[in-house]
Amino acid sequence: MLELSTPVQYVKGIGPRIAEILAGKGIHTVDDLLHYLPFRYEGRLNPRGISELRAGEMATVIGEVRNSGLFRTRRMPIFQLTVGQGRNRLQCLWFHGAYLHDKFKAGQMIALYGKVEQDQRSRELQIIQPQFEILGDPAESGGGAEKKAAESLEIGRIVPIYESIGQLTPRFFRRIIRTALEDLNPGLPEPIPAAVRSRLGLISPREALWNVHWPEPGESFEDLQSSRTPAHIRMIFDELFFVELGLELKRREQKAQTGIAFQLDSRVRSAIKKILPFHPTQAQKRVLKEIAADMEKPYPMRRLLQGDVGSGKTIVSFEAAIIAIENGFQVALMAPTEILAQQHYFSARQILERARYRIVLLTGSLESDRKREVCRHIAQGNAQLVIGTHALLEERVEFARLGLVVVDEQHRFGVMQRLKLMRKSADTDGSGEAPRREIASTPIGEPDVLVMTATPIPRTLALTLYGDLDLSVLDELPPGRTPIVTRRVSDELSPKVWDFLRKQVAAGHQAYVVYPVIEENAETELKAAIKMYRELSGNIFADLKVGLLHGRLDVALKEQVMRMFQKNELQILVATTVIEVGVDVPNATVMVIEHAERFGLSQLHQLRGRIGRGAAKSYCILMTGGKVTEEGERRLDAMVKTSDGFKIAELDLELRGPGEFFGTRQAGMPDFRVANIIRDRQLLEAAKQEAAAVVSESDTEISAEEISRALVHMRTRWKHTYGLVEVG
Ligand code: ADP
Ligand code: MG
Repeated sequence: MLELSTPVQYVKGIGPRIAEILAGKGIHTVDDLLHYLPFRYEGRLNPRGISELRAGEMATVIGEVRNSGLFRTRRMPIFQLTVGQGRNRLQCLWFHGAYLHDKFKAGQMIALYGKVEQDQRSRELQIIQPQFEILGDPAESGGGAEKKAAESLEIGRIVPIYESIGQLTPRFFRRIIRTALEDLNPGLPEPIPAAVRSRLGLISPREALWNVHWPEPGESFEDLQSSRTPAHIRMIFDELFFVELGLELKRREQKAQTGIAFQLDSRVRSAIKKILPFHPTQAQKRVLKEIAADMEKPYPMRRLLQGDVGSGKTIVSFEAAIIAIENGFQVALMAPTEILAQQHYFSARQILERARYRIVLLTGSLESDRKREVCRHIAQGNAQLVIGTHALLEERVEFARLGLVVVDEQHRFGVMQRLKLMRKSADTDGSGEAPRREIASTPIGEPDVLVMTATPIPRTLALTLYGDLDLSVLDELPPGRTPIVTRRVSDELSPKVWDFLRKQVAAGHQAYVVYPVIEENAETELKAAIKMYRELSGNIFADLKVGLLHGRLDVALKEQVMRMFQKNELQILVATTVIEVGVDVPNATVMVIEHAERFGLSQLHQLRGRIGRGAAKSYCILMTGGKVTEEGERRLDAMVKTSDGFKIAELDLELRGPGEFFGTRQAGMPDFRVANIIRDRQLLEAAKQEAAAVVSESDTEISAEEISRALVHMRTRWKHTYGLVEVG
């Protein structure tokens, strides 16, 4: 008998070779196999008489093979099969059908499924390339064949259609999944508490597994195709529930740790007021309040600050930093790239140094002497605000009194790194790893953590991806921004674009020109930053000051270029996507993106976020060179039509799918096997609520035994199925 955990190789019909192919698709166990769901279903319920067929309908026909043969036309070989019922006949054709050559014998019973069409010349009905299954040989009696038809997995029922994997056909999957279901230990455990099941009307796991693959004849087709049958719902909920349970548990454990209760008295408040270079927006005020309230609490803050590009997250993080610093603690601010870390360092100095806060920059590329010195400052508690890249995580940096960690994740950092950060600061759970002290686990309490992201994702989704965090949203842009004008042009019009750019520069503004690659490559024929820099600086804009910025430049040079651009000593900056995150030069009003069709939607949005930061009108020019795919068209279209980060994120999600969009694997979240967090938003919300009820033990209908069963199940899932770091 099979258990869910049994390796697939032990399912009848699967040998080592096939097991290997399946493993390539992540199917290792019977459980994995049973979670390989049909991507659609076909209603092959009622076999039809040939005489009642109509052109245009999908039909199942059971009949007797009369004759077959291969004939060659000038263009291709065509295999022809004639099937009969009494005096009625039906033609079937397969183009390039030579492989069917000795497949059929006259007198065989056969089942066919496909679209009925009328031949244009003969006016006779035919089916082209039908699906088929041979039900019985001529030697068998007619009765036998009919009996076989009744048992068939292919005919007379709703048939699941699986995606092929290599040479493993949908039919193969029907067979082995059926076998696996038949041989599966019927006593499947029920890890979801009864009260939760009854609230959601969930069917049993066993019933769900059977019905999702082999729906009952009466099942609604619409529900099947939209994954809304009771069987689908049970399987999807199952998956979401245990992920949410894990996240919920993490969240609670974090709250149970000892943190730092910062004081927020009038002295701290006025220190904050003093540094503000402008009036905060209502949204900034609200968000700061939420952060400050967390910081006052005696347990560690774990908060996600979400705000579109340009919404003004930086100043909020500085305000939080002041709360910590004025309480005598140190603050670490981490950025995803060196350029962004430098950028933060510049703004921090502009804004905070007047108040005499001591700020240091610590990046991986500092000379080792300098680095040692900076580290000493940090270890002795002299440095109050430490700004760096995630090198702060990776290198041995000891803080004297770390109180707050700000992670400016933009959309690049990934949840994984965040988890790593938290583990570094809090690995005291006996999970086997010795507590690491790079980021302080001092007796003063766990530091607060604020994660900032520019990816504007819907709230429920944010809560899932960052389910262990509380959420604040900056949903308002600072005043005085004029909307960015976005235009799309073919690069044949580049002379006009360069003219326009020149006019903007003459008016005192600055411009970015962005390329998809650093160097050209014979295969892609894409314009590249280095080459175009030569062309633009040496030729087209020979009279202007043009700079070049890309990821492979050495750090000092990068810094110099950025600084010059910031001071308007460079008027045009030719760059790759290194400028995508965080760069803040309000005087830059033009962005030209060449080969815009090559960039992802969110990436274009982030890039465009570099302009429109000042009061002057800004222009984003999307140049295309070469063929634009249909999806590319939709991306460009969206960019021209909207600058609403939420709308863009939703469309991007739709175009790329959640896995790609979030880079979930890499970000440390599971690629769900059956759930789709966009389609299943409502179930996600329900799963989150129910998980909270279980973890808080507040629901009296759920017994202690059920809770512990659910938690045990969750832990094995997290480990084996999702491969996530341990919880609880
Ligand atoms: P992001 O959320 O993308 O990190 P920033 O923090 O870089 O945004 O802010 C974008 C720009 O808006 C910066 O130039 C910043 O100084 C400015 N800014 C932020 N908040 C305000 C405000 N309340 N009023 C005016 N300008 C602001
Ligand atoms: Mg920012």
